[in-house]
Amino acid sequence: MTEIPYRELLPMTAGVNSDGHLTIGGCDVVTLAARFGTPLYVYDEHTIRAMCRAFVGGFEAEYPDSHVSYSSKAFSTPALARILAEERVGVDIVTGGELAIVRSAGFPADAINFHGNNKGRVELEEALDYGIGLVTVDSMYEIDLLDEVAREKGVTQQILLRVSPSIDGRTHLLTSTGVLDQKFGFPIETGQAEEAVRHALGKPNLDLAGVHFHLGSPIFELEPYTQAIPYVLEFVANMREHGLEQRIFSPGGGFAIGYVPGSPPPDISDYAAAISASVREACDTFGLDEPRLIVEPGRAIVGRAGVAVYSVGAIKEIPGVRKYVSVDGGMGDNIRPVLYGAEYSIVKANGPGEPATDIVTIAGKYCESGDLLVKDAALPILEPGDVVAVAASGAYCLSMASNYNMSLRPPVLLVNDGEARLIRRRETYDDLLATSNL
Ligand SMILES: *Cc1c(COP(=O)(O)O)cnc(C)c1O
Repeated sequence: MTEIPYRELLPMTAGVNSDGHLTIGGCDVVTLAARFGTPLYVYDEHTIRAMCRAFVGGFEAEYPDSHVSYSSKAFSTPALARILAEERVGVDIVTGGELAIVRSAGFPADAINFHGNNKGRVELEEALDYGIGLVTVDSMYEIDLLDEVAREKGVTQQILLRVSPSIDGRTHLLTSTGVLDQKFGFPIETGQAEEAVRHALGKPNLDLAGVHFHLGSPIFELEPYTQAIPYVLEFVANMREHGLEQRIFSPGGGFAIGYVPGSPPPDISDYAAAISASVREACDTFGLDEPRLIVEPGRAIVGRAGVAVYSVGAIKEIPGVRKYVSVDGGMGDNIRPVLYGAEYSIVKANGPGEPATDIVTIAGKYCESGDLLVKDAALPILEPGDVVAVAASGAYCLSMASNYNMSLRPPVLLVNDGEARLIRRRETYDDLLATSNL
């Protein structure tokens, strides 16, 4: 059988067929590219479900009262929402738009958690009208606003408070995010989190069930969680004097996936074991009842399941300098290399087993010199018309896609057992014009 490069980064069903083409979910990627055009995103249903089960099963095995809530911002469509509901996975939303997508799939309201540092009044009204289970409140302004909205609607809204654990110095991994100076959450260190607890407990239409934190993403090590959890649970224990009775606790998401060889993420079961043990130990230490545990993977559920498929076009070789191979997508559908310097691994879909004898830089088609998907990658010789697949493109690519250069956002296929279902069509020029007045 042909060896597939980057097998551990590609969807779990990746294979090579008798034509020597890459297959995903039993579908020939080159045939899909011809049929649906490129750029194209292909999601493997098997991998999505397997990751849901790894989280739900992995955490339940270690901590029976646990709940997995998928962070919709990683990728959101009604078809995915249906799969998540079937797999007993809830969702996190951060806007009314993300709510609208899951609502359209009839997603169970009690499994929705509304996050974000500046939710609007209308968005909160929409969320309460749908009867969502949790709102994770991020500011004093929001405590007042949500209490008012809940009173107008005649409901009591269950909430968590997002706290900021200031774990600066405890890990080199979180550079600028887990620290005091960032926009999310009430800092524990400054006393603002304590003030927020007192303020929220005094609101008649809010029911404070506990606290939440989120350290950043992706977190390739377990220590940031095991350092932050006892610190935050000690805070929760201290808040009992103000009347806080913790029922729910969430250490957020941030679970890593592999993008390039040689930096494998921990297994989900390792995250589950470390987080569960840490919560249990801290509860024991501080005399707290064990709360319901909510974990919020985004990237880890859909990242590996998705591949971006492009066609090769122009090739520019600067002798002794670099060879640029341009594809028909780029920063419009995947901004991560430009935004974060993110790295990716690319496979020649119409010849994955060919020897990687060339070193090329894969460029996008957008009018930015920084629009490069992969720099200096070892690949088989590529010619115009070849099809390439970018591994681990399922998270934070399409969800951050834009119409830059008035490009059309790509279609999305869900593949499974040799069947490909178009779950989002390619945009058209009419779509580009639909919101403009002539
Ligand atoms: C983005 C986010 C997540 C998910 O992060 P991943 O790295 O995709 O797992 C979870 N919780 C909150 C509050 C977030 O903002």
